[in-house]
Amino acid sequence: MRYISTRGRAPAVPFDQVMLSGLAPDGGLYMPEAWPQLGADEVRAIATRTYPEAALQVIKPYAAPAVPLPDLYSAIIAAYGRFEAAEVVPLTGLGGGLHLLELFHGPTFAFKDVALQLLGKLMDWGLRRSGKRALIVGATSGDTGSAAIEALRGLAQVGVVIMHPHGRTSAIQRRQMTTVLDGNVRNIALEGNFDDCQAILKTLLGDGELATRLNLAAVNSINWARIAPQIVYYVVAAAKLGAPDREVDFAVPTGNFGDVFAGYCAQAMGAFRGRLIVATNENDILYRTIETGRYEPRGVVETTSPSMDIQVSSNFERLLFEASGRDGALVARLMADLKGQGYFDLTPAMRAFIAARFAAERVTAADAASQIAAMAATGGPLLDPHSAIGVVAGHRRRRPGVPMVCLATAHPGKFPDAVQQATGVPPQIPARLAALETMEERYDVLPNGTQAVRAYIEAFAKDRN
Ligand SMILES: *Cc1c(COP(=O)(O)O)cnc(C)c1O
Repeated sequence: MRYISTRGRAPAVPFDQVMLSGLAPDGGLYMPEAWPQLGADEVRAIATRTYPEAALQVIKPYAAPAVPLPDLYSAIIAAYGRFEAAEVVPLTGLGGGLHLLELFHGPTFAFKDVALQLLGKLMDWGLRRSGKRALIVGATSGDTGSAAIEALRGLAQVGVVIMHPHGRTSAIQRRQMTTVLDGNVRNIALEGNFDDCQAILKTLLGDGELATRLNLAAVNSINWARIAPQIVYYVVAAAKLGAPDREVDFAVPTGNFGDVFAGYCAQAMGAFRGRLIVATNENDILYRTIETGRYEPRGVVETTSPSMDIQVSSNFERLLFEASGRDGALVARLMADLKGQGYFDLTPAMRAFIAARFAAERVTAADAASQIAAMAATGGPLLDPHSAIGVVAGHRRRRPGVPMVCLATAHPGKFPDAVQQATGVPPQIPARLAALETMEERYDVLPNGTQAVRAYIEAFAKDRN
């Protein structure tokens, strides 16, 4: 498979190159040149496979020929061997046609592990083979940073620098990052907010000279190698519930549109038919876009689901590319509109394409809290606030006779305050998270400015050479 840019003006490149960069040189996002197809019998067979076998089958066309099959399988086995559930992503019934797909059994208790554990193994493989080094820089509001650090810690050829907003993550989220003392990991606590972190990151990644000299690479979901592993659990859950012979719907708590876009990819591969419900919190840009056709960022508000407190949904550009019939020039024009006038409007054809596949729900923190309380009161699984948003949206959009899979994206013990507020009882905190409380932390507080971060990264890179 080769990869092309959503803005249509970059040369096609293989998987290993996509994995170790981030954005395409024209500023677009990489997309597979064509959708590999899964036959109906292949999908039926996936229902009985182990998760690593299913992952190999779904991911191999995306990684070939850059990654040989045995190397891909070794990476998959190593990545998912670290999950605490035998099925990796357990699927349980909630009654009334609803199902819960638990994606939080990895090392950092959020669904980011499903993609980042494998990305870590594949980056390690790619860099060993080429003898190159990479410097991963990332910005996080919480879950991505710890999942990336956990996936890349201790790797000789990879340095990792993660910026988080000083004092604005939860204590558990901060400790998950700052208690990792491996020599290849650095944490920056930036004296600013998450948007400041992300703006600095974009400036650094966009500086061609710096990016080339230090081999900078991204770990957020603009990296296609994070989307591909997420396609797997849609195919697996749909197959278990009777696809392709039956429709299956999914309700997905959404921030950067990465997770729900992977559901679209599974459909494009022919794995299932059904609707994808885009579930947002009060930061509802995607809900507004799907309802009105206008994409217009507004200020970010803080909610009880911080990993979805996003107003610029990077992966939506990938859907624009698909909905426009892969018209890179049109996508580039819409992105220019956004920059110039602060919004863009979907064309009628794009709106129809999206409406045929997606629906959207906006779920308030109060509705999410009621859902957590209601399920806890009836002996159901305890939800975290992100997962609760998916379940509320799933209830609202349930169709008779069609299974609705709600994605559970984080362990409730990762957000104890919000869960306690909803139920009146503190959730059980997994021993591995509780232990962080007494561990030594290491991080560097930096002023809110690109210059300071650039100097820090240069010094770290020099140190490692
Ligand atoms: C990142 C995250 C999300 C949102 O996922 P996107 O791919 O950004 O849409 C939802 N829930 C949790 C717990 C997350 O960490």
